[in-house]
Amino acid sequence: MSTIAWIGLGHMGVPMSARLVEAGHTVHGYDIAPACLEAAAAHGVITVGSVAEALEGADACFTSLPMPAHVRSVYDGPDGIWAHAASRTLLLDTSTVDVETSRWCHDESAARGFAFVDSPVSGGTAGAEAHSLTFMLGGEPAALERAKAFTEPMAGAVILCGAATAGIASKLVNNMMLFISMMGVAEGSQLAEQLGLDPAVFWSVANVSSGQSWPQRTWYPVPGVVPTAAANHNFDATFSVDLARKDCSLAVQAGQSTGVHLPAATLALSQLDQLVEEGLGGKDCSLVTRFASPDGTLRGWTP
Ligand code: NAD
Repeated sequence: MSTIAWIGLGHMGVPMSARLVEAGHTVHGYDIAPACLEAAAAHGVITVGSVAEALEGADACFTSLPMPAHVRSVYDGPDGIWAHAASRTLLLDTSTVDVETSRWCHDESAARGFAFVDSPVSGGTAGAEAHSLTFMLGGEPAALERAKAFTEPMAGAVILCGAATAGIASKLVNNMMLFISMMGVAEGSQLAEQLGLDPAVFWSVANVSSGQSWPQRTWYPVPGVVPTAAANHNFDATFSVDLARKDCSLAVQAGQSTGVHLPAATLALSQLDQLVEEGLGGKDCSLVTRFASPDGTLRGWTP
């Protein structure tokens, strides 16, 4: 069994690190938020007060951080990972970042003698709790094999996507498809309501028909239909608008830099932008359903 450093104990970091503890590893966890440290400690993570302490004796170091700027600041500088990791420590970033940030992590890690693997995940908090996440790994073949062993306890699938940044590029494309699908589910759920359908019965139809999708199965935005939906909890975040907006804007930027036309993703981004402008960035991204409601109200949503 190994010693693992885990930096960033949020919605994803807590259940993912807890699973590594269950699998028999010793996990040293660090977060800047005391409440997150407490939540991780309740699952057997040994919480510490700095990145340097987390890295003591670590065979691998995972990061699960909100934005690309957080990843850059946690890696770089005198208190960062590169300053304190041992050269044998495998570095894995599970955060969703832009391809350029991931490329920078690879290049700067290699220049310092570290192996880095871009290791983004899909499956959300439900997948993290059920340890059924999909890991998309990018990097050198030997590092990928090591990363596979560390990620497997948390995963339903570990896919070796290819060279450096192939994992994060796969993730950005996947999530762009997710937010476009979410708009379909949002509009479908509201049209079903207005046409007088029983939401649970309609959901069962879509679930075995061609309207089936990941957000339909997992995030159906009407209370009482699927247990993992934020609609059951006043749209408190399972995947926040802020993070969804980040992912969608990274995909739209990638479209601009490659010349690919992305009209649907651009519309999804504009809806997420509007929720952020209204001060709803901390709520769940399935709240885009509001834009389909005839009067802007939603069952399960009290502003
Ligand atoms: P989160 O905001 O809940 O957690 C991030 C944690 O990082 C927070 O607890 C925050 O306090 C901590 N943090 C920020 N700066 C730090 C620093 N300098 N040092 C230590 N800790 C620091 O976010 P999340 O939902 O857990 O997502 C984490 C990453 O995984 C994001 O990049 C997100 O896009 C990605 N992701 C999220 C989901 C999801 O469903 N939530 C799914 C797949 C991927």
